[in-house]
Amino acid sequence: MPAEPVPQPCEVCGVETTSKCAACESAGISLFFCSRDHQKLVWPAHKLVCGPGKALPFAMLPLLDSDIAQVKKLLDKSSASSLAKSFRAALEELGQAPAEAVLESINGDVYDIRRLPHKPFIVCLVRSILWQLAGPEVVDAVGPHLYSIAVNDEDRKTFNVDVASGLCASLLSGMCADLRRARVLPLDYSRATWFSLFQHKLFFICRLGQLVSRRPHDVEANAHYRGAKERTNAWLWSGMGTGEAIFSTIGGKSQIVHEVETYERPQ
Ligand SMILES: [Zn+2]
Ligand SMILES: [Zn+2]
Repeated sequence: MPAEPVPQPCEVCGVETTSKCAACESAGISLFFCSRDHQKLVWPAHKLVCGPGKALPFAMLPLLDSDIAQVKKLLDKSSASSLAKSFRAALEELGQAPAEAVLESINGDVYDIRRLPHKPFIVCLVRSILWQLAGPEVVDAVGPHLYSIAVNDEDRKTFNVDVASGLCASLLSGMCADLRRARVLPLDYSRATWFSLFQHKLFFICRLGQLVSRRPHDVEANAHYRGAKERTNAWLWSGMGTGEAIFSTIGGKSQIVHEVETYERPQ
């Protein structure tokens, strides 16, 4: 007899449900939604990474040539900033090669680790550097809702995947660094469900933040946004579904916990 499905919180409202995104379930990842309405609410973000070939592993976009050129320029500067120095050191330590050589192997399929060990981590690192280079005006424009991305949307309808992945990458590369220090970071990220699940959850948070920035006084939208962050924190604290104690220790220290407390100013 098949086991009774265990209800899990809806990704939008937190109500316990056994309904899941069917396309993602068939791809091997469980994302819970209590209703079609709540699935639709996050669809502009989720459709980019929903179903077989996209959901598991999470379809991380390859870096653009212009992205790579921009970080190369950062490393080229003769008066290397502390950002450039620590970036170079991290690239060389992770990629086991000079930084320039690492950047030559960074394009294409993010999960192809044959030419470059820790490629998904390194891609996250590059994105988080690009996000930092974007300057305080972008970050200021995004706050107080750190994950809100509507500000960069011309028509305020679409989901700005660049900004979302910049934010996700910052959190994810911090997480990878902590897990690596604890020697529990796998080399094959495509098999690590938590790595994909974390990115799905961050995309949902970004989309829910976008809805809040459109309707700042909408009580329900605010509750969804805050709830999604709190549930993601709880998921991090509980070990990201790995059942490993070390994951909960590290997950619990993650930036997202901190950011929820620091960046959310009362309206
Ligand atoms: Zn719901
Ligand atoms: Zn899906």
